[in-house]
Amino acid sequence: MKTTLIILGAGESGVGAALLGQATGYDVFVSDFGQIKAPIKAELNAAGIDFEEGQHSEERILAADLIIKSPGIPEKAPLIKKLRAAEKEIISEIEFAGRFTNAKLIGITGTNGKTTTTLLTYHLLKEAGFNVGVGGNVGKSFARQVLEENRDWYVLELSSFQLDDTHELNLEIGVLLNITPDHLDRYDYDFQKYIASKMRIFHLVHLGGCAVYWQDDTQIGENVQNVTRDLNVYPFSLSADGTEITHIQNDRLFYVPNDFEVSAPRADISIKGLHNALNAMAAGNAALLAGVSEADLLKGLKTFKNAEHRLEPVRVLNDVEYINDSKATNLDSVKYALDAFSAPLVWIAGGVDKGNDYSIIEALVQEKVKALICLGTDNSKLIASFEPVVPKVKSTDDLIEAVRWAKEMAAPGDVVLLSPACASFDLFKNYEDRGEKFKSAVLAL
Ligand code: ADP
Repeated sequence: MKTTLIILGAGESGVGAALLGQATGYDVFVSDFGQIKAPIKAELNAAGIDFEEGQHSEERILAADLIIKSPGIPEKAPLIKKLRAAEKEIISEIEFAGRFTNAKLIGITGTNGKTTTTLLTYHLLKEAGFNVGVGGNVGKSFARQVLEENRDWYVLELSSFQLDDTHELNLEIGVLLNITPDHLDRYDYDFQKYIASKMRIFHLVHLGGCAVYWQDDTQIGENVQNVTRDLNVYPFSLSADGTEITHIQNDRLFYVPNDFEVSAPRADISIKGLHNALNAMAAGNAALLAGVSEADLLKGLKTFKNAEHRLEPVRVLNDVEYINDSKATNLDSVKYALDAFSAPLVWIAGGVDKGNDYSIIEALVQEKVKALICLGTDNSKLIASFEPVVPKVKSTDDLIEAVRWAKEMAAPGDVVLLSPACASFDLFKNYEDRGEKFKSAVLAL
């Protein structure tokens, strides 16, 4: 009899896992508590894969041999509790796909910068002529790629939720960018649990593999030694004291993993801001360790184009630059965004608050922001936090109006920055929708 594989959640990773499961001989059933999107249904139907939506048939699911759970389903969901009580094997789509490839894997995690660093690492390898794919949270699912492509390398973006259900992966290189409070609702509001989840990336690196991490990050610094004992470590740092490791000095990045000695002027790196210099140190370390040459690294850093909605330049109008940073949904990313500009800022922020403590960025806002436009259905917390330190604060729930006000308030040489610090679900479908609507409104000015 065939082994039964149940897939909970029919997003891109679920359908990828279903197709791979079917191709590798499992009896596959997909179950989604919500509605499944039409193209995914069509794909499942075409492949002859059984599925249900709007419910979970518990009896059938509890009889499964193996469960693949979407990272969006929390541990506290009643069905997951029952599966745990029944001691069922539950894994992520990432772990499942990893069982069917011999490619070398680079895994990248962190609270912020995962997508940027994953895409940059992928770009560096690809431009250097590697046969490489990119997956995880970006683009096509890892499982789908393992099924359809035959790569030598994969660069994988790994969220903490994906890490939580990944017990074995055989990473060649693990990268940990930073850890600041986020998603605490999924970790019993216990920051230590979230830290432990992120640190698990290094348990997934094979013995003697490479650990790349930001040494200056307090949480990483305090915990990293315990989890990298059997690995080769390649930290990076902002401090020039750490000249033995990859670091920044006099506006140059110095890459020094193993015996490499590459230095790149920060001005030559296509993505701007200190946070992106950190991402470039992480990606560059990983690329050199994978075998990218020094010349290809320098070339790749210059030619990289980041994904949309991350400090994305939209337009210059009347000598005012408009920037779309809609992906900045937490305070740490906004801190780096504000810091990336020396010009006076007209800052558009707001949305669904995730428990932000705005006092963390108060001084920075006071220094950089000449006007704040709050964009959300409830702007009271933002207004109360920043009215005392920002000369002009306005409030609206209309993006078109926010952009029009921004134009009126900005003087030549200023920057208009959408960097919300909040989730988008009060007014928009998601952060992409918010970013697209912002860009359209700016281009229509
Ligand atoms: P993630 O995939 O982890 O959400 P992204 O690369 O999509 O990360 O960037 C998300 C937001 O965080 C953007 O606003 C970006 O400007 C900001 N950001 C990117 N890298 C970092 C970093 N190393 N530290 C802090 N913020 C960052």
